[in-house]
Amino acid sequence: MKRKDGKTFIGSLSLWVVRDRTNRPGGMVGYTLDISKAIKVEEELKIKDQAIECSVDGIALVDRDGRIYYVNKAVLKMWGFDKKEEVLGMRPEDFFDAESNRRDILEMAPQHGFKAEMLAKRKDGSTFPIWLSTSIIRNKENEPIAYMSSLIDITERKIAEKAMKKSEELYRLLAENTLDCIWMMDIDLVFTYVNPAIYPMLGFTPEEWIGSRLVDHFEEDDINRMMGYIQMGIEKPADFPGIRFQAEALNKNGEKVPVEIIGKVLTDDSGNPIALHGTTRDITRNVVAEKAMKDSEERLELAMTVAEHGFWDWDLENNEFYFSSISYKMLGYEDNEFPMSLEKWEEIMHPDDRKDIMPKIIGSVKKGDPFNFEIRMSSKSGDWIWIQAKGATFSDNKGNNRAIGTLVDITERKRTEEQMLLARIAAEDANRCKNELLANMNHELRTPLNSVIGYSDVLIDLNIGDLTTEQRKYIQIINNAGYKLLNLINNMLDLAQIESDGMGLRFTSFEPGKIIEKVVDGTRLLARKKRITVNVHVHDEIAEITADVDKFREILYNLVENALKFTPKNGTVSIEAGIRDDDIQVSVTDTGIGIAEKDRERIFDPFVQVDGSNTRRFGGAGLGLVLVKEYLKMQNGTIWVESETDKGSKFTFRIPISPLAEVTIYRYREKIIIKCVMWEFSYLIM
Ligand code: ADP
Repeated sequence: MKRKDGKTFIGSLSLWVVRDRTNRPGGMVGYTLDISKAIKVEEELKIKDQAIECSVDGIALVDRDGRIYYVNKAVLKMWGFDKKEEVLGMRPEDFFDAESNRRDILEMAPQHGFKAEMLAKRKDGSTFPIWLSTSIIRNKENEPIAYMSSLIDITERKIAEKAMKKSEELYRLLAENTLDCIWMMDIDLVFTYVNPAIYPMLGFTPEEWIGSRLVDHFEEDDINRMMGYIQMGIEKPADFPGIRFQAEALNKNGEKVPVEIIGKVLTDDSGNPIALHGTTRDITRNVVAEKAMKDSEERLELAMTVAEHGFWDWDLENNEFYFSSISYKMLGYEDNEFPMSLEKWEEIMHPDDRKDIMPKIIGSVKKGDPFNFEIRMSSKSGDWIWIQAKGATFSDNKGNNRAIGTLVDITERKRTEEQMLLARIAAEDANRCKNELLANMNHELRTPLNSVIGYSDVLIDLNIGDLTTEQRKYIQIINNAGYKLLNLINNMLDLAQIESDGMGLRFTSFEPGKIIEKVVDGTRLLARKKRITVNVHVHDEIAEITADVDKFREILYNLVENALKFTPKNGTVSIEAGIRDDDIQVSVTDTGIGIAEKDRERIFDPFVQVDGSNTRRFGGAGLGLVLVKEYLKMQNGTIWVESETDKGSKFTFRIPISPLAEVTIYRYREKIIIKCVMWEFSYLIM
């Protein structure tokens, strides 16, 4: 209907026909009601009904007799009914499973505000958890006329709760079984939680720990440091991702335990700090390991310092160079006077080494091979320092390739080597001169000596009457000295020959027994003079051997002569020859003065005579055994001595019965010759 002002409203119009007595309609009478409000209320009620009907939560109305007279669709769906008619008139307790639930429904549910979790039973008998809340509906007079139940299917929530509980249990187990200590404290810094790991770490039980204050467990310095971090975290929690630091916690006995702490701030939904939480780890082992590492590094450093070894470490990935202070010092620089780099290294290297050795070093490093080179580096003062650079490449625990090594100043050694080389060249020169001299002097030395020996021989043999006894004695002395000198010269010439161009061997076949006899004959005079018994025993198995007969004789002669020389009067000298494997073995045993153990090796060196006083007593120049040994070596033979001081000596030598097919030219040992040169000259001059 439209009002005067044009606005509309919903009206209810009632009209009656007015009839006269004859029942003829004579007019109409009626009235109009504005029902806009009533319509609105009705619409609102309809909406509410719909809302209840369509709610996902179940809604049920139960009358005072305890009969259900309304359920919405959700209830039907939850309990598995198709039509409302199936449900209406039923009793609420029939919808639940356990007896206790049913009792609650009967007794408690009709009370206003009753809430409980219950196990509902569907039409098909299956069960599901629901959340039930009830409210009482009253009439205008405030009398209860019904009660309404709101029913929520909490199956999903229960599953989620179960999962949550399981995960909580898991976290609890984790927290309780981890070796790290997990803790939480309020913002007054009082501990509100700690896991059992606190006990093995610091000796407190969680019960003792919870409620204690942070300040109770650290010394002032650590506390001050921590306060700084905590302040930061509390003031700007959003900018504070957490902090990791090391400190020393006090255990229950008040002893310090090194720990690593990770701390974070916990905030509420609005970002306000509400607690602090984190973990604490015992790092005693790390600290001990670190200390051991530090100690070992210090020891290494010390060893390097004492040994004056420089140390370098080249990180190939980042081309970073570490150069130890001794390395700098070695080159005359202060520690870290300049940053070391590959470029700098090349710059101070001698140009020749840079060209020749540097590529080799780089090559070794690239291949991962160890290297050892001697290089020259320029020192601060501009001198060239010889350095021995050793190194090896390896991959460190971060996977970086590194070359690492040492530097040793070998300038002094190089200088000595140079000097030795010069000395050697000089000695070789001198030696060569000496050999030339000896070769030239061979004739010059022997000719006058031949005259001395020859004429003194003649004088002795001819028995010239005019000579006095005194004169005869002198001639004999001249003769003896002549022979000695000839022997010495011969020995020296032999040695010189061996050394200079090798001495050839002349192999012939001979019977060693016969040579032994000849040597014994040749020395009979001396033996007789000292009344020494000479025994010879040549075993039958020896027939002929093939060797240098002259050298064989010389060897034997020297040994027998020595045996006679160093054996006092009335002693015994025994010569025994036999076969051992493919060698002939000859020994010369005496009952003489013997040779002390310390001298038994030495006597085979040139000019060695065990006792200076003996030299005068026994004569000789200390060259006999040298030649013996060399002659034997030339023929692949050996010699050794057994002896006991004051009891006697036994010299034994062996030579192969037939020569080996190898070259038998022998070169004398260089170093002995250098030593000999001066001696031989002095002998010559004498
Ligand atoms: P020398 O000409 O002095 O005999 P050798 O080289 O033959 O030179 O001997 C070197 C030294 O070895 C002798 O001076 C002596 O001290 C010691 N010696 C050699 N043979 C004997 C031995 N049979 N008994 C004791 N000492 C010996």
